[in-house]
Amino acid sequence: MFEKEINFIKSLFPDKKSIALHEPVFKGNEKAYVAETIDSTFVSSVGEFVTRFESMLCEATGAKYAVATVNGTSALHSALLLSGVKNGDLVITQSLTFVATANAIAYCGAEPLFIDIDEDALGLSSSALLIFLEENTTTKDGQCFHNDSGRKISACVPMHTFGHPCRIDEIVNICSEYFIPVIEDAAEALGSFYKEKSAGTFGSMGVLSFNGNKIVTCGGGGAIITDDENIAVLAKHMTTTAKKPHKYEFFHDMTGFNYRMPNLNAALGCAQLEKLSDFVLNKRQLAEIYMDFFKGSGFSFIREPENSRSNYWLCSVLVSDKNIRNAFLDFAHESGVMVRPVWEPMHTLPMYGKCPRGNLPITEKIAARLINLPSGVRL
Ligand SMILES: *Cc1c(COP(=O)(O)O)cnc(C)c1O
Repeated sequence: MFEKEINFIKSLFPDKKSIALHEPVFKGNEKAYVAETIDSTFVSSVGEFVTRFESMLCEATGAKYAVATVNGTSALHSALLLSGVKNGDLVITQSLTFVATANAIAYCGAEPLFIDIDEDALGLSSSALLIFLEENTTTKDGQCFHNDSGRKISACVPMHTFGHPCRIDEIVNICSEYFIPVIEDAAEALGSFYKEKSAGTFGSMGVLSFNGNKIVTCGGGGAIITDDENIAVLAKHMTTTAKKPHKYEFFHDMTGFNYRMPNLNAALGCAQLEKLSDFVLNKRQLAEIYMDFFKGSGFSFIREPENSRSNYWLCSVLVSDKNIRNAFLDFAHESGVMVRPVWEPMHTLPMYGKCPRGNLPITEKIAARLINLPSGVRL
C-alpha cells in the first residue's frame, strides 16, 4: 500500500539495511578529542573540553553564557528551580512534548498546566496562551495566580517541536505582562532561528539536549543558555553540588546537584559542534527532498514556520487520520524503516492526566495524524 513512499525513503539512505529515525554521525574529531581526554585522565566533571564546549555553545547560539549539564532533563530541572518554581506551583507548558518537559516540572513539586499548540509550528500557541491567561488568571503583587486552584503560575516552558521555532517573541511578551518567567525547551532546536535569533535565547533561559538522537550529541548531555550573568553563576553553582570554590575545603551552601557534564562527554560534543552548520544544511536539504516528493500526495509535509529557519531535527508529515497513520507505521516497520508517531500527549499519561489544562483541540488532532520520518544526516 505504501511501497512507493517506503522505497523512496530507502533510496535516500542507500547504504543502510534498516533505516533509523535519527542516527549520530562521527566523521570529524570525535575519536581524537575523546582519546585526548582519556590520555589527560581528566575524564570527569573538571576539564578543558567542558569549558570549550560551553563557549562553542555561546558562539553557536549568540547566548552570553552556557552551563553544560549531564542531560537536557537536568538542565530543565535546574532552570525551573533557578526561576523560582516551588512546591505546589503551576508551570505552563504544551501537552505535545517529550515527557522530560513535564517530568522536570514534577521534580520541582510543581504541576504542569497544559496549553494548546499552533498548527503550523507545533509549539506552544501564543494565542491560546493569551486567551487562557485572560480568562483564568489574576495578577497580584507582581505574581500570577490560577483562579480555579489559587496556585501560583511560576514559569512557562514553550518547546520548539522537532526544531521548528514557536512564536517565542509573542510568548515572551505575553508572559512578561503576567510576570511569568519563560524557559525555552530548545532541546530539539539547536541551530534553529526565529527572526534571525537563535532558539533558546528569547526567554530568561534556554535548555538544550545532546542526547544520542539530537542534532549533535555528547552521548548524553544538556545545557542552560542565558544572557544573565547572575543566573549563569547560580546555574553552575547549583549543578556542581553548590560547593564553594576552595583549594581543599568541602563547604556547600545549599542542596545542589551533581549535574555537571563530564569532560569525556564534552570532548565528543566539541567535535560534534564543529559540524553543526554542516549538519543543519544537510538536514535542510533532506527536508527539501521530502517536501518535493510529498507534494500533492495524501501526506502533507510540515514546513518550517514563517519567520524562522528550522534545523529540521525531525522531518514530519500529517496524514488524514489515525488508521492511515497506523497502517503506514506498520508497513514501514515491517520494511525496516524506522518511522514514528509523535509522543502521546502529556495529558493522556497516567501521572499527568489530572493536571489543569486549557482546551487542546490542535494537540489532539496533530497527535493522531503525525508521522516522523527518518531524518538523520546523510553521508
Ligand atoms: C530530548 C528532550 C529533552 C531531554 O533531554 P535529555 O537530554 O534526553 O534529558 C527535553 N525536552 C525535549 C523536548 C526533548 O526532545
